[in-house]
Amino acid sequence: MSGARAAARLAGLALPLAAALAGCGAPERAQAPDGPADRPAILLVTLDTTRADAIGPEAEGVDTPAFDALAARGRRFARAYTTAPETLPAHASILTGLLPPEHGVHENARRLPAGPALLAERLAELGYATAAFVSGFPLDRQFGLARGFAVYDDEMGPGGTERRADATTDRALAWLAAAPDRPLFLWVHYYDPHEPYDPPEPYAARHAASPYLGEVAFMDAQLGRLVAAFEERAAADGGSGGGVRIALAGDHGEGLGEHGEAFHGNLLYQGVMRVPLVLAGDGVEPGVAEAPVSVRRLHDTLLAWAGGDGPRTLLRGGAETVVGEAMRPYLQYGWQPQAMAVRGRLKAIRSGADAGEAGGGRGVELYDVVADPGETEDLSGRIDLPDPLRRALDAYPLPAPAAPLAADEPLDDEARRKLASLGYAAAAAPAARPVLRPDAPSPREMTHLFDDLDRGSGLFVRGEYVAAIPVFERVLAADPGNPAALLRLAVAHSTLGHDARAESYFARLAEIDPDSPDLRHYRAMHLLRAGRPGEAAPLFESVLAETPARLPALDGLARVRESQGRLADAADLLARAAVLDDDPATLVRLGALRMALGDTPAALAAFERARARQGPAFRHHLELGVLYLAARRLDAARDALDRVDPSHPAYPMALFKRAQVAVLLGEPDREMRIEAARDGADAVTRPLIESERLFRKRPTEKSSG
Ligand SMILES: [Zn+2]
Repeated sequence: MSGARAAARLAGLALPLAAALAGCGAPERAQAPDGPADRPAILLVTLDTTRADAIGPEAEGVDTPAFDALAARGRRFARAYTTAPETLPAHASILTGLLPPEHGVHENARRLPAGPALLAERLAELGYATAAFVSGFPLDRQFGLARGFAVYDDEMGPGGTERRADATTDRALAWLAAAPDRPLFLWVHYYDPHEPYDPPEPYAARHAASPYLGEVAFMDAQLGRLVAAFEERAAADGGSGGGVRIALAGDHGEGLGEHGEAFHGNLLYQGVMRVPLVLAGDGVEPGVAEAPVSVRRLHDTLLAWAGGDGPRTLLRGGAETVVGEAMRPYLQYGWQPQAMAVRGRLKAIRSGADAGEAGGGRGVELYDVVADPGETEDLSGRIDLPDPLRRALDAYPLPAPAAPLAADEPLDDEARRKLASLGYAAAAAPAARPVLRPDAPSPREMTHLFDDLDRGSGLFVRGEYVAAIPVFERVLAADPGNPAALLRLAVAHSTLGHDARAESYFARLAEIDPDSPDLRHYRAMHLLRAGRPGEAAPLFESVLAETPARLPALDGLARVRESQGRLADAADLLARAAVLDDDPATLVRLGALRMALGDTPAALAAFERARARQGPAFRHHLELGVLYLAARRLDAARDALDRVDPSHPAYPMALFKRAQVAVLLGEPDREMRIEAARDGADAVTRPLIESERLFRKRPTEKSSG
């Protein structure tokens, strides 16, 4: 370990000089030499749901030695902020350097548009070997962050939505051991502190009073393994003559009950918006930075490390007015949209598009987060909102009730101009935006509903519809125009077969937000379920016209086409879905459709992709055997049929096909294979065996064998 560190330091011999140059004002990219061989190995670790005060020197009640060690030898940013309190938009900012209105992702389960360049794409262009290992479904490849990564490992197991840090670290270490001999860019994402909090032992016992901190402690231990292995590999690697650089960052924190928020995503207070952030490695001057910074500057920082053009790095680029947003309450519940701005010790939170009189009225809260980190004392009535904060809030594009944006309408010129005035590039197309209710409440007035909304959503996601219904009925009683509650009640009743009640909730939602793509999508799912595919089809088609990459709509329309006997159309839709996310279940359905259509090469390709994704869990060797036999690829047919498990319900068919292959290959045991097929025959294979000409004894064949 210490030998490896020493070697790493030797490898980075030139860096103290470069650091000195950086200190006297040279552009940081001058640090990175020209040849790829001299570029540093770069490790980015993102820590999901990790509060700034739950890890490292600030943490109480938990030991995090791996993070502490990096913070001690690196630069810790004590007041770093995320751009949005949700996993996907926050990571999209880290990997593009853009704010949510610019990269277009405001909440989970949306897809990053094709426009913004991702860090991994840029580093790949600079000669880096790139790999990502993510641990939570919000970062599944279908959501668009995989671009530029040669390896993007989001395998959570069948039906899984998260992967523990030890499993993710194992996979990352296996990649490191066999990584190409080029400068490395490795991104590892840990998801453990996200609820549910269930750390493994001994962390569970050690943190019985706070299993959240137990998850952080477990994650930290895995972080230690990862960093040690990365530095060892980079030191041993001729391709990393530029040393090692490491960045650690939280994507957002966790409310833990503060301001009425248990989890994250609804509000903009410090517990969820302030995150841990450390840069370490060769050439990084140790210390603690107190000025507020945004995690989105990681993009430029890592790009500059790699020798690219990153003007606003965290190590240079000066002070900023940090901005962020929380849009889920608006997008899901129809409440006011929220933005925040932080500069120096002051932080302003704006709720709603109308900031009130002179930008400092009732719509804005103001806190001194240094003197009052708990944000208990709103100063907005007592001191004027400073100009930089007012300008940043005014420029942040929040939807207004008077001007609802259509679902697929790009950001308007005014919003673009506002962003440009803040120094941001032209914005990408935003995600779908619902109508802002004229009576929309501020999210902080609605904290009494957070528990029910979170609990109801949990029940809903787990398919516990009977239990979810009374929870959302309670929400609706308190907030009659809540679109998320109406939508989930409609879907729950539809799934339970209560068609009339489902229709009435869909109708109520249509009154509030007639153009909602979610309404059209879920109503189409309902109609499909209710046996009315003809009515579902145009709704799915209109959703796909707006958002061609919406996987569940592709899947739904494919089911409609299957039920209408339009198998080629169904297969084309599933092929589009498989390009976005090579989900094994989709690939298997695609393979079966191509097989039914007689397209053997396409069917083989789909089943083989599913097999590559699933490994030992793959269950369709019989289909592969039949297809290879049809393609007269007899060795491959034999191998596939030999993999069919005897417990397979169609095992008699496997025996029959295997006997055919044995005869065609002239295998010595072919007669035994035919006998086995006869002995194991069922009603389907018995007549096939009797009429199979290959199985009739031919004396010439026998004598030649
Ligand atoms: Zn997250």
